[in-house]
Amino acid sequence: MALQWTPNWEEVIIESHGIRLRVRRDKETKLLACPICGEGDNAIYFFSVDDLIRHILSHTKRIEKHQVFVPAKPVEEEEEEYEE
Ligand SMILES: [Zn+2]
Repeated sequence: MALQWTPNWEEVIIESHGIRLRVRRDKETKLLACPICGEGDNAIYFFSVDDLIRHILSHTKRIEKHQVFVPAKPVEEEEEEYEE
């Protein structure tokens, strides 16, 4: 699909469900770009803040799934006393 669209990005702060994000929004179409996908050919754009946040959350879920969990040594139930 060839789009004759030259985005004119501006940085905006969106806020929804207590999540605050700095994302790029096209000045003309008001489309929001996913900060993780970027603005390349494979980028995904959203009209709604909620849709974008749902999409970003799906990124984090994907990351969690691929995370290799290495069990740590059993933690002794002692209060650690480290100086800050
Ligand atoms: Zn994305």
